[in-house]
Amino acid sequence: MTAPESATESRLSSGGLAPVLVSVWATIGVLVWLVIRSADDVTYGYYGGPFALAAGAFACHRIVRAGELARPVRTFWLRLEFAAASLALTAVIALARANNNTGMSIWVAVPMMLGVSLLLAAFLGLPAPRRTALCWLRGTLDTLTIAIASALIFWYVVLDLAPAGTSLSDKVIAAVVGVGGVLLLVVVGKSAAAPETVVDPAALRVLTTGPVTCVAGTILLIAGDDRSRLALSVLALPLTGAAMCIGAYLQRRALTRPSASSFPARSVFDMLPFAAVIATAGLVITVSAQDMNARQRIVIIGALLITGCVVARQLLSLRENTLALRGIRRQQAELERLALSDNLTGLPNRTRFLVALGERLDAGLPAAAVLIDVDDFKMINDTIGPAAGDQLLFQVSQRLRERCTGDEMPARLGGDEFAVLLADGDPVAAEAAANRLLLALADPFRVGEQQLLLHASAGIAIPGDGEGADEVLRNADIAMYAAKESGKASFVRFEPRMRDDMINHATLAGELRNGIARGELRLLYQPVFDLVTGRLHGCEALVRWQHPSRGFVSPGEFIPVAERSGLIVPLGAWVLREACEQLARWRSEYGPGAVEAVNVNVAVRQLRATGFVDEVAAVLSDTGLTSRNLILEVTESSVVDGWQVQEALQALHDMGVRLALDDFGTGQSSLSLLRAFPVDVLKLDKSFVDGIADGADRGRLAVAAAVAQLAEHLQLKAVAEGIETQGQLDRLRDIGYRYGQGFFMAKPLPAADCGALMAADPVAAA
Ligand code: C2E
Ligand code: MG
Ligand code: MG
Repeated sequence: MTAPESATESRLSSGGLAPVLVSVWATIGVLVWLVIRSADDVTYGYYGGPFALAAGAFACHRIVRAGELARPVRTFWLRLEFAAASLALTAVIALARANNNTGMSIWVAVPMMLGVSLLLAAFLGLPAPRRTALCWLRGTLDTLTIAIASALIFWYVVLDLAPAGTSLSDKVIAAVVGVGGVLLLVVVGKSAAAPETVVDPAALRVLTTGPVTCVAGTILLIAGDDRSRLALSVLALPLTGAAMCIGAYLQRRALTRPSASSFPARSVFDMLPFAAVIATAGLVITVSAQDMNARQRIVIIGALLITGCVVARQLLSLRENTLALRGIRRQQAELERLALSDNLTGLPNRTRFLVALGERLDAGLPAAAVLIDVDDFKMINDTIGPAAGDQLLFQVSQRLRERCTGDEMPARLGGDEFAVLLADGDPVAAEAAANRLLLALADPFRVGEQQLLLHASAGIAIPGDGEGADEVLRNADIAMYAAKESGKASFVRFEPRMRDDMINHATLAGELRNGIARGELRLLYQPVFDLVTGRLHGCEALVRWQHPSRGFVSPGEFIPVAERSGLIVPLGAWVLREACEQLARWRSEYGPGAVEAVNVNVAVRQLRATGFVDEVAAVLSDTGLTSRNLILEVTESSVVDGWQVQEALQALHDMGVRLALDDFGTGQSSLSLLRAFPVDVLKLDKSFVDGIADGADRGRLAVAAAVAQLAEHLQLKAVAEGIETQGQLDRLRDIGYRYGQGFFMAKPLPAADCGALMAADPVAAA
């Protein structure tokens, strides 16, 4: 709480009950006096009013002085303070004139009207929600209806009942005060029931006691018997004072307490004009039962006026409702538009796409969904920045829009994912459309100063029997992933087996998570040999999963699952630590006979994860190894994944950890990559080694030889993978390969067997 707030609170919380006690005791005093009074000392009964109202003025004044209040709250209570003061004056005059017992006099009526006007001003001054001309007109009609009806009732009923001898001026004063009271009651009541009032609603409700006693008092002053007239003439003012004190007290409490929000409710005071109509109708019926005189005619005219007012008001309400309805419809249409289109591109969004697809399916019309995802958009976005990335997506949307035919609907599903709804369910036509759309994205894009070449992958789904829009889109998504996996920049049509694969992958991912936790993973080590000396040179750690029910699961199966699910990060961390610990054990056991370094495969998601470099450093220091003891194997595609990976690789290289390009020759091998990337080892992919011996595949042999030469020139170590025969080994050695690994020399081995190789005669082992 801030300092001014707490100051206000302390000012408010002290002494709030005293005025309440004074006013309540004054009122009770008057009541007691009414019961036990002796006939002649009327004066005593009038003492309650001045006390209670003075207390009321004091209570209001205390709130005004509390400071740090919202301006409208202050103004309200200030006006109430003046109203209380005027009414207190009224009470004093009434006390002075008590013995005359002449009923309402002009001396009492004037300050009373002043007090009532101030009360009215206080309530009318409360800030109301923004009012339109229609609201004002409706309010005026309400006021008119109530004023005419209450004037008629006063005149016809109350004045009729006035005791003989009541002067005309007394009757007029009583009628004016009475009608004023009814109006005040309406205004006060409406404010009390208003949903967004700044003044405490409970206080407002208590304050309605004032006008109620005012109205009742006036009626009884004129029409009541002596006893009830006296009761009300002595009770009305103290009751008003007590209401003000209690209202002020409630307001103080509300100010020192966080307020609960109130909800708009239809005010019962809205029904008052209709009550007025009913009451007047009752009068009309009574009057028409008798012969008409001038007064009765006036009642009829009044009734007609009221009916006119009420009808006009109803018409206004009707017009207001029509306008409101039109506004709501307009807003609804705008909201629908916003909810169904994409902010960035203006294309229909996922919801709109699904609705349109669903409508076609429900109507039994042919349809197909093509889902298009920009390849490597994350990397592009990282490189050119999010603003340029947005521009690029906008241009993609433009191209799709341009290339779509009239009955096709392009949409942006989110991120770099677009979809096109085709109005043709023919698979060949759908493939042609997918091709056309991918071609639309093949031309370079211009973003700012840069020219960018994009590729995208697409998945096609043709709705099957009973399939809903969601399912069709999901199938297109599965097909799109298949396209990505088959090397990107292409399209694939969905086949049900893809869904089975997907489910299988998801299940496998769940089991792998448990498998890692339960320690079902093992490492094997495949030796790398020096092909010239035949000596053991190094070894590559290869992970294995011994599944409790599936049995042995090959890394070719679960590594892609781990990569897609992100599990590769914890899995890779375990492999790294385990391999380093094993090397440390070998080195302590076999000394110089042990291999110098262990090769560990690293996936791109590991390289992208923050803290990977620190993790490597920590593992090396924990296991007592140096950076010379570790070779990390990465694939070509991961090297070009973006600046984060580049930075990680550079940091590892600077640390002294050697990097090997695995499966070299299969990815997007480019010579510039070898210069940009701090590589130490090239591992020629097995596919080049297969068939190298018999010379049948001269192309592959040429590549294998070129890679060996390239490595020599760049002073990199070349390792041939997957050697299975003596012929392959000889050939590779002839064309310049110094190192190699393969089943011909050794399969991946348990750590102990690999260690045994280190202990045995290395030449014999080869
Ligand atoms: P890679 O890194 O290229 O590993 C070489 C793969 O070739 C190993 O398969 C190995 O057993 C196999 N291989 C070696 N010599 C021969 C041969 O003469 N003939 C044949 N047919 N195969 C041979 P493996 O262990 O099944 O691993 C497959 C791939 O799984 C690895 O290819 C690597 O990319 C990945 N992988 C294995 N372990 C890990 C790991 O711990 N982390 C990561 N990220 N990937 C791993
Ligand atoms: Mg490898
Ligand atoms: Mg390999």
